[in-house]
Amino acid sequence: MSHIEIDPALAALDIAKGFLSGGPKRLLIDGDWVAARSGETFEVINPTTEEVLAEVALADAADIDLAVEAAHRAFHDPHWANITPAARARYLLKIADLMDENIEELATLQSLEMGAVVRETRLMTSMMSDVFRYYAGWTTKMFGHTNPSDGSVFNYTLREPLGVVAAIIPWNGPILAATWKLAPALACGNTVVMKPAEVAPLVVLRLAELIQEAGVPAGVVNMVPGYGKGAGEALINHPLVAKLAFTGSTETGKHLMEVASRTMKKVGLELGGKSPTIVFDDADLDKAAALAAYGFAGNTGQMCVAGSRILVQDGVYDAFAAKLTAAVGAMAPGSPFHEASALGPLASKAQYDRVNGYLALAEQEGARRITPDRTLSDKGYFIAPTIYADVTPDMRIVREEIFGPVAVLIRFTDEADAVAKGNDTEFGLTATVWTAEAGRATRMARALKAGTVWVNTMFNLDAASPFGGYKSSGTGRELGPESIDAYTQIKSVYVGL
Ligand code: NAD
Repeated sequence: MSHIEIDPALAALDIAKGFLSGGPKRLLIDGDWVAARSGETFEVINPTTEEVLAEVALADAADIDLAVEAAHRAFHDPHWANITPAARARYLLKIADLMDENIEELATLQSLEMGAVVRETRLMTSMMSDVFRYYAGWTTKMFGHTNPSDGSVFNYTLREPLGVVAAIIPWNGPILAATWKLAPALACGNTVVMKPAEVAPLVVLRLAELIQEAGVPAGVVNMVPGYGKGAGEALINHPLVAKLAFTGSTETGKHLMEVASRTMKKVGLELGGKSPTIVFDDADLDKAAALAAYGFAGNTGQMCVAGSRILVQDGVYDAFAAKLTAAVGAMAPGSPFHEASALGPLASKAQYDRVNGYLALAEQEGARRITPDRTLSDKGYFIAPTIYADVTPDMRIVREEIFGPVAVLIRFTDEADAVAKGNDTEFGLTATVWTAEAGRATRMARALKAGTVWVNTMFNLDAASPFGGYKSSGTGRELGPESIDAYTQIKSVYVGL
C-alpha cells in the first residue's frame, strides 16, 4: 500500500508565476490580448491540489466572429499572404527556438493544468519544437507539377493554402495537439483560430505569446478558449472557416463531420482509440511487460494511443501477467513534480468520475481485477493503474475507450486469433506487436487495421511519419508530407498556346 504526498510544487509554481499572475488570462484576437465580449471567465483547476490555478476569458460566438474575421483578413493581408516561403520558415524556426528557451515553463504549465508528470511534458515540448523545425523545412519545398500535355496547351498545378483553419484540441496533450496543427497550417500559409480545451488552455495560451514574440503578424494565429457548446459550435459553423482540424473524442468528431458538411469544410479528425498490445510467446517478456504497463498507464491513461487491450498468447499468459502486474505495481501515482511519480492525477474531476464509473462497471460486468488495491491521497484526482482479466469481448470495458489507467488482459491462441481479436474494435489508431520472429511481425503489421503499428517498441513518433486513425479513430493524417496535403489545395491551370 502506498500513500501519495502532495507536493505543493513550489519550485514549479515559481517558474510559471509570471504567466499565472496578473488577473484572468485573455483571448488572443487580431494580435491583441482581450477580455471576452461577455466579460465572462472560467476557472482552470489544478488536478493535483484541486485548487484554482487560473481564470481564463470565456469565448463565445461573439468572440469567435471577431477571431475568424481577423484570421480571414490576415489570410489576405500581404504581410502574410505575400511573404516568401523562406520568411514563413523563419517564423517557424523562431517559434521552435522560443519553445526550447521556455521549455521549463511550458512543461510546468501543462503539468500544473492537466497533471502529466513534468518529465514527460518536458520531453513532449522538446519534441514539438522539432515539429515546428520539420515544417519550416517544408515551406521552401512545396511544388506544383508541370503536365507534359500536347503542344496546344500548357498545364501546371499550383499548391495553395486553404484559408482560415479552425483548430479544436483536447486537454490530454495540449502542446502536442496544438503543434501538430499550427506548424503545418502556418507552413502552408493558412491562418488559424484555435480553441483549446476548457480543462487545459494555459500552455497553449503561453505558446501563443511565444508565437507573437516570434513576430508572426497579427491575426495569423488567434486563441479563443471556451466550451465546446459555445465557442466550439460557433467555430465549426462559421462560414469563413475553410477547414476543421480536430483532435478529441469520436463522438464529437462525428458531430463535427456532420456540421462541416453543411458548408463543405475540409475536415481532419484525430479521434479515440482502444489499441491492442499483442504479446507472442517468443517475445522479450520483460521489455514487453515494462512497455505494456507504461503503454496503458502513462499520462494516467489519457492517451489516444493507449494500449488498453493487452492480448497475450496462451503459452506465456501466466508468466506475462505476473511480470505485467509487477511492472504496474512499481508505477507510483503522485505529484507531477516528484521525480518518483510514474503518473500524475487524471486531468479533471469529470474524468476522475468517468474512470471511476468504469471501475464500478468492471466489477458489475464480472471482470477480475489482478492489480492490488492501493490507498491514494484523498486530495487530487488520483487513480492507480488497474488491469482486469477474465473479460469477454462484449463487455463495455473491453469495447469502450476509458481514457484512464485501466487495461484488460485477453488470451489468444495463434496468429490468426491475435489478428481477429486485435481488430475486434470500432477503433484503429495504433497497435503494438511483441515477437522475435521477423516474418510474423511483418505479417501482423499488414493485418492489423491501425494507422500506426509498433513492433518490439512503443510510442515512437516522428514528425516525418504520418499519424492518424483507421475506422472510428479518425480521418486524414497529421505529421509527415501528409499534413502538407491536408493544409493545401491543388489548382490545375491550363494556358492556351
Ligand atoms: P472532446 O471531444 O470532448 O473535446 C475535444 C475538444 O472539442 C475540446 O476543445 C472541446 O471543448 C471541443 N468540443 C466539444 N464539443 C464540441 C462541439 N459540439 N463543437 C465544437 N467543439 C467541441 O474530447 P476530450 O474529452 O476533450 O478529449 C479526449 C478524447 O480525445 C479521447 O477520446 C481521445 O482519444 C481523443 N484524442 C485523440 C487523439 C488523436 O490524435 N487521435 C489525441 C488526443 C486525444
